[in-house]
Amino acid sequence: MEKITSFTVDHRYITPGVYISRIDDDITTYDLRTRKPNCGDFMDEYIMHTFEHLFATYVRNSAIKDRVVYFGPMGCATGFYLLVRNSDHLETFAVIKDVLKKIILHKGEVFGCSEIECGNYKTLKLEAAVSEAKAYLEKLEAIKEINFKYPGEK
Ligand SMILES: [Zn+2]
Repeated sequence: MEKITSFTVDHRYITPGVYISRIDDDITTYDLRTRKPNCGDFMDEYIMHTFEHLFATYVRNSAIKDRVVYFGPMGCATGFYLLVRNSDHLETFAVIKDVLKKIILHKGEVFGCSEIECGNYKTLKLEAAVSEAKAYLEKLEAIKEINFKYPGEK
């Protein structure tokens, strides 16, 4: 089997941040890594699911809404993937931080919180997404110069 690109990144050195996982023609796949891999610190189903609902809705209502292709959690529970068409990386990075701020300030019901709109709506809990967004935003704001490269990547 041919190894897929994301398995060629040495996960021991990944820290929370925003990375370019791959580029396919005009579509950029961003790795929104919220947790350091393999450290016993994983997102639970409430965090992953609620963050997904809120982030997906806010990003699809943002300045890049027409270019968002997909947003969803990684199976390893240490981050999310965001796919954007014709992306300006710095603009997307700014939008990501802006969306996190909107999640932190979100009031009321979580978007799509019903049996009709979601496949497992009972695992939606606003506080879970808010604390994840706060912790992640703090990490992103500490990044002085972002290059979107994985540690050790040329
Ligand atoms: Zn859902």
